[in-house]
Amino acid sequence: MPVVSFGVMRSDNSSLVKAAYDGGMKLFDTAHGYMNGRNEEMLGGFFSTVPRDSFFLATKVKPAGVDSRTGLPSRDTTAESFISMFNLSLSRLKMDYVDILYMHAAESVEMVRHKETVRAMLDLKKQGKVRFIGISTHKNEPLVINTMVEDGIWDVVLTSYNYRQTYLTEMNSAIAKAAGAGMGIVAMKTMAGGWLDRERTRPVNVQAALRWVISNPGVSTTIPGITAFDQLETDLRIMRDVALTEQEKAELMAEASLQGLYCNACSNCVPGCPNKLPIPELMRAYMYAYGYRSPVMASELLSATAAGANPCSGCQTCTATCVKGFDIREKITDISRLVNVPNDFLS
Ligand code: SF4
Ligand code: SF4
Repeated sequence: MPVVSFGVMRSDNSSLVKAAYDGGMKLFDTAHGYMNGRNEEMLGGFFSTVPRDSFFLATKVKPAGVDSRTGLPSRDTTAESFISMFNLSLSRLKMDYVDILYMHAAESVEMVRHKETVRAMLDLKKQGKVRFIGISTHKNEPLVINTMVEDGIWDVVLTSYNYRQTYLTEMNSAIAKAAGAGMGIVAMKTMAGGWLDRERTRPVNVQAALRWVISNPGVSTTIPGITAFDQLETDLRIMRDVALTEQEKAELMAEASLQGLYCNACSNCVPGCPNKLPIPELMRAYMYAYGYRSPVMASELLSATAAGANPCSGCQTCTATCVKGFDIREKITDISRLVNVPNDFLS
């Protein structure tokens, strides 16, 4: 498995996928929910033209009925709904099986150990519709990974991992433990939002950021999001030249002290908010809009949180404090304007 793979999430371009495949990438990562299914359909179109054993396909299914604020399952979180969504993914992909199936965006022990969902995933593996089962996580990652290791049934984890996380000691320890237990570690959010400012005048040194992730021997591969041929060229170059230079290291250290757009999703701010707003998700929507320049992704995430338009309007002052010094109220007020923009106007 090459150390750089393809995060397909925001790409609907099969020529780009073909160029990555021809360039030596092996793992292509999508999800049931990306682009309302068009992402999987596009991949299904391309991969039906090449030998099935020449690539790895990973997809993710988000269990139904999970509370977006607490991350906890409900009565609607059933094995049947999970399997039905997975079967739809399989038909969009035009495949008999996927190589990796992730439970999408788990953030609590309750979800890692959710009996119905775990049973569904083990059944699909037994039926040969899935080769490896895993969990994707971008919140409470060390807890999720450590729980997965304890349970011993998981093959792979897809986790946020980048030089800007403020809990790297816990992350590095969880990754080492999981790798030692034989789990595959796939890293995402490796570019930490791609930009350090809302106006996009200061880019993250993406080559250095990716090399930094790869320099962890526990990491099996990474899935940077690729939407353009110049990005692909950069990623293919890094795939073949992985060494992080001393200068890159110094640049990353200097960047790490700046605020940037990346929210840790550490939830340290949430207890300070009397309305218990889903601040990490709102900050992620902000990063999608200004870092990824994807108002569609930002809008979808905002809808999922059900925070509504201008949820901070009832507060005189913001009592939620961010470990990175984000002006939480300002960012929420800014991004929540998207709630009132109809989807037809977003691209
Ligand atoms: S301003 Fe917003 S984030 Fe801050 S405490 Fe009030 S509702 Fe919570
Ligand atoms: S806004 Fe700040 S404190 Fe809150 S989750 Fe993000 S990084 Fe953590």
